[in-house]
Amino acid sequence: MTAPGAVRSAVREHSESPALAVDGRPRALVPMVVGYEPIAEAVSVAGGSRFRYLLEPVTAVAVVFDRGWILVDGGFDPRRVRDAAARVAGFDYENYTPIVPPGDPLTDQAAEAGLEWSELAAAVVTHAHFDHTGAARLLRPDQPLLLQRREWEHVRDTDDARSHFLFRDDLDRPGLTLVLLDGDTQLASGLGVIDTRGHTPGHQSVVVELPGRTVVLAGDAADLRVNVAACRPCGSVVGPDGSAEADRAIRRLAELDALPDVEVWPAHDPDWEPWRRIIDSRG
Ligand SMILES: [Zn+2]
Repeated sequence: MTAPGAVRSAVREHSESPALAVDGRPRALVPMVVGYEPIAEAVSVAGGSRFRYLLEPVTAVAVVFDRGWILVDGGFDPRRVRDAAARVAGFDYENYTPIVPPGDPLTDQAAEAGLEWSELAAAVVTHAHFDHTGAARLLRPDQPLLLQRREWEHVRDTDDARSHFLFRDDLDRPGLTLVLLDGDTQLASGLGVIDTRGHTPGHQSVVVELPGRTVVLAGDAADLRVNVAACRPCGSVVGPDGSAEADRAIRRLAELDALPDVEVWPAHDPDWEPWRRIIDSRG
């Protein structure tokens, strides 16, 4: 357990935080593919093969409001993934080899979409695995990172970050503001999060109400579309209650997906059209 005094980020309660610096409602999504990772099917889908590997995209989404935007997840910090010593210190590189394409895919794709970092109001992470937290490096103190309280406590209190796929330094550094959420929470007009714990203790999914449709960014509660379509939970969970919680999470997502004009987007499916379109279009 890390002593409270050792936390370097500023940690705030959601109820005591200023409203996010966006105006109006979500108008569009900008999907991004910011890396890749080979993942055993059994990790993405409970009961899947431990031998069959999928090359899964690592994704991020910008939620664009009438004014301002909010980033959901953000892939790796490329500096850590490209640094040999950081890889060995940070994760079990013998069995897991993430890939970041040349350049900085997140900032490059954001720039191509015309997104200005000065207009970023906040970032939301579905959970604290390091293939989701890398964009925290880009945040100023007035651009908070929002995550569930349970997830932050998992990051703060886990002794063995290496085997839990956590780069604690992504989320714990001077100049970063964390805002803690407790379960289902409305973040702004047309934007909220829902509790989909199981994959990690404080996993959340993000609900975006766009004109004419609602998109639920599942995060790793549904790596693949088959998780949602067949109501099969993720295969990688934390803690003794993780499997039951992951089961509840996928049922919740499948129920939402069955509603008219609601789409549940899996975070890591190479064949999900919004990600596929990016992969196919970039030379
Ligand atoms: Zn994950």
